[in-house]
Amino acid sequence: MTLTDLLCPSCALFLDFDGTLVDIAPQPEAVVVPARLRATLQALHSYLDGAVAVVSGRPISQIDSFLAPLVLPAAGVHGAERRGADGQTVHLPIVDMQEVEVVARALAARHPALRVETKRGSIALHYRQAPELEGLCLDAMQAAVEQTPGLTLLRGKMVAEAKPAGASKDKAIEAFLREAPFAGRTPLFVGDDITDEVGFATVQRLGGLGVKVGEGSTTAWQRLASPEAMRLELENAVVLRGGKAIA
Ligand SMILES: [Mg+2]
Repeated sequence: MTLTDLLCPSCALFLDFDGTLVDIAPQPEAVVVPARLRATLQALHSYLDGAVAVVSGRPISQIDSFLAPLVLPAAGVHGAERRGADGQTVHLPIVDMQEVEVVARALAARHPALRVETKRGSIALHYRQAPELEGLCLDAMQAAVEQTPGLTLLRGKMVAEAKPAGASKDKAIEAFLREAPFAGRTPLFVGDDITDEVGFATVQRLGGLGVKVGEGSTTAWQRLASPEAMRLELENAVVLRGGKAIA
């Protein structure tokens, strides 16, 4: 069974963004969103009666600007913020990040290839431009996180991110599934990163399916080779379900 086979009107579709729907870019803001991806997501949103949500480490505001004019239900900053189908956004309580920010900025000052990203609710240290600094970044961020109750360190692709312990993609997916129009549906979650593994496990425990995009070990039961293959899969699903072919 492929994702296309499984996509039915009683499904809820949860989608990571970077590395899943779009190719990862050297800089986070350089990501390119193909116009036909917006059209595909719009068609799926109609087909599933609104039960399509983006579940990302990015803030919701960035997801919105990439997908505009499309506005989808979304969980941002790994679930620290979540906007339901009713358009209301819920924020988890903010944890003081001062200790972590000082450490991350000090490291970036010494190593200009590092990049600190501050979000509402998390601080990410990106080392994509300096992969040799991975160990240094992880150790420093881990030590800083341990100084601050309520924070945990999340490891992603070329990034170490301090976030509230209560924020995670699996919890965000479960929260969506308690609300209309997601409640009672079979959850499908597609992601590419270590941070998505908890989401795969959760949807599969709930009778759904996890789909891993790209290489690497995973608990997901299905795999797609690349974001491009993922976009094609979604487009095929739209066409097969009677949607118009996307030009
Ligand atoms: Mg991703």
